[in-house]
Amino acid sequence: MKIMNLKLSVFVITAIVINSSALANDQEKLEPWQEAKKSEVWEPVPKVVSAEEGQVPSDAIVLVGKGSQDPWISVKSDTFPWKLENNVLTVTPGTGDIKTKQNFCDVQLHIEWKTPTEVKGMEGQQRNNSGIFFQQRYEIQILDSYNNQTYPNGQAGSVYKQSIPLVNAMRPPGQWQSYDIIFTAPRFEDKELVKPGYITVIHNGVLIQNNVEIQGNTVWIGEPSYKAHGCAPLQLQDHGNLVSFRNVWVRPLGE
Ligand code: MG
Repeated sequence: MKIMNLKLSVFVITAIVINSSALANDQEKLEPWQEAKKSEVWEPVPKVVSAEEGQVPSDAIVLVGKGSQDPWISVKSDTFPWKLENNVLTVTPGTGDIKTKQNFCDVQLHIEWKTPTEVKGMEGQQRNNSGIFFQQRYEIQILDSYNNQTYPNGQAGSVYKQSIPLVNAMRPPGQWQSYDIIFTAPRFEDKELVKPGYITVIHNGVLIQNNVEIQGNTVWIGEPSYKAHGCAPLQLQDHGNLVSFRNVWVRPLGE
């Protein structure tokens, strides 16, 4: 009886071995297109965004330009004190910063800006300064940095007082400039920072900040540090100069 059982076991094991080697042979015989199929991922399917030449992407929120819906308000009051004419927004010096009524988290931002041609007697940080504050805290500097010496971590395209741009891609004053910015907001849990913010800036088509880690709130004096917050408005700075903006749109990213 024991011998019979042993024979049966040998038979079963042999059958399994033969079967699995046949399976392996089958797998080896797959055609290249069948192999290629294994690494295809079919979901999720990206939603369609139309991006016609010279047009704003179909899922963008227009902040300055055709189709914008009164998105700005003063930081200090319930008014809109800046000048908006022919889809060009200009700082009214002395009225203070403006912010979007809407809060944002991670975003892609396109913004075009221009500083005045006349620069006589204006030097360094005083030569037509403004800025974009993401979540009202993290400033990407706007400044006429064309042949204008200042501390590089405060020139145009700097993460102000935190990160020097890779290159200076300024056009002369009086010409329109563009920033394309990808901002990833910092993450907080239980009021503690769990992941810092990151920012990428393309100035006039040239990469100047490459996924740079943001060190905390922008400060003029001292070291930056984080303080927990949620999604918050975009803010434009009134630094007392006639800086203009056009074609400003934002695409919220993520869920
Ligand atoms: Mg500034």
